[in-house]
Amino acid sequence: MTTRSTPAVGIDLGTTFSAVARLEENGRPVTLVNAEGDRVTPSVVLFDGDDVVVGKEALKALATEAEHVAECSKRDVGHRVFHKALGGKQYPPEVIEAWILNKLRQDATAQIGPFSQVVITVPAYFDEVRRKATQDAGYMAGFEVLDIINEPTAAAVAFGFQQGLLAPEPSSDQPVKILVYDLGGGTFDVTVMEIRGTDYVTLATDGDVQLGGYDWDQRLADLVAEGFIREHLLDPREDPSTAGRVWRDCEGAKQTLSSREKATIPCYYQGRSSRVELRREQFEEATLDLLDRTRFTTVQTLRAAGLEWPQIDRVLLVGGSTRMPMVRKMLREISGKEADTSVSADEAVAQGAALRAGLMLAKRHRKRGTFHIKNVNSHSLGVVGVNPKTQQRRNGI
Ligand code: ADP
Ligand code: MG
Repeated sequence: MTTRSTPAVGIDLGTTFSAVARLEENGRPVTLVNAEGDRVTPSVVLFDGDDVVVGKEALKALATEAEHVAECSKRDVGHRVFHKALGGKQYPPEVIEAWILNKLRQDATAQIGPFSQVVITVPAYFDEVRRKATQDAGYMAGFEVLDIINEPTAAAVAFGFQQGLLAPEPSSDQPVKILVYDLGGGTFDVTVMEIRGTDYVTLATDGDVQLGGYDWDQRLADLVAEGFIREHLLDPREDPSTAGRVWRDCEGAKQTLSSREKATIPCYYQGRSSRVELRREQFEEATLDLLDRTRFTTVQTLRAAGLEWPQIDRVLLVGGSTRMPMVRKMLREISGKEADTSVSADEAVAQGAALRAGLMLAKRHRKRGTFHIKNVNSHSLGVVGVNPKTQQRRNGI
């Protein structure tokens, strides 16, 4: 009865895309689709007079009325105001985040009925101010925030569920060491974790808050613009709307190149046009330095955890950008193993958060829980610890 009246819901509030998952009656996490029928919602908000539009339509508006559109508000969480005024108004970033959460709540409610209790995820490097701001965004959107947990931990929990490690008596007593490589739209994070029975412990975490799929898009946009300049002596990036359209087409081409060997990117500006034909190798060559930055951080984090590749049992891929074949190739090269794709890269975080919500609700109803998170717990907000082995800071042990 409790599960029916109180659905366990988890929210991955991403920099560029967000996702919502719930636990089904049988305890399995499933990702919910939004009102547009998608499993992920762009974390983009359009302030159009009194109208506030969130998601796909707001993202489209970036190509026509960028001055009213807030994107990547998560990057500014913890600051007093969002870095750009929207329609002449300044908003705190958590207010923009609250609008995104509100859309996620409405769309989920349409499917599973009214609910308020949720677990929301944040990057492992978020400090207490940003965790608190995220919690506030949740309250503003009408949620009761059961817990704020780290994104890589959530991904590991989803993986643990998939592998049967969450059972009260897990199939193996051997600790499982995993490396979570998360390349999203605007950020990169890498975390080394250990699953000890039912405990999830973070050993080391690092990342780059200014590196994500968007940088790969920009590299393509530069190639397109340079071609256009050579042909027509005009730079299409001069005009914000044209630049917006070029970016959109480049992002599409990047996705095409994840499954096909070549893609064509058109460009129209001031009555002229060009087409760039690009092969996957050319794309990979043009963006190799970006990938190398993630390689460097990954190796550093492994070292900070005091581990070598043979000690890592699994490499988990999280984030839409890990769909790029170059990411898997690089990880195979440095780790000597095939990355684990048993949990969908876009859904793992939301599903892990839903599993966490299930546990929190079960505890409230005095049922036995099945797993423990050692690195994050909303009741210990304000505590930062140091791993004695690695000297790495950990949030809220
Ligand atoms: P967030 O940073 O919000 O967590 P996601 O994990 O959803 O974002 O990742 C979004 C990024 O993933 C975007 O840059 C998007 O272009 C990229 N992406 C999604 N699908 C693919 C694909 N098939 N190939 C390459 N990149 C992809
Ligand atoms: Mg993400």
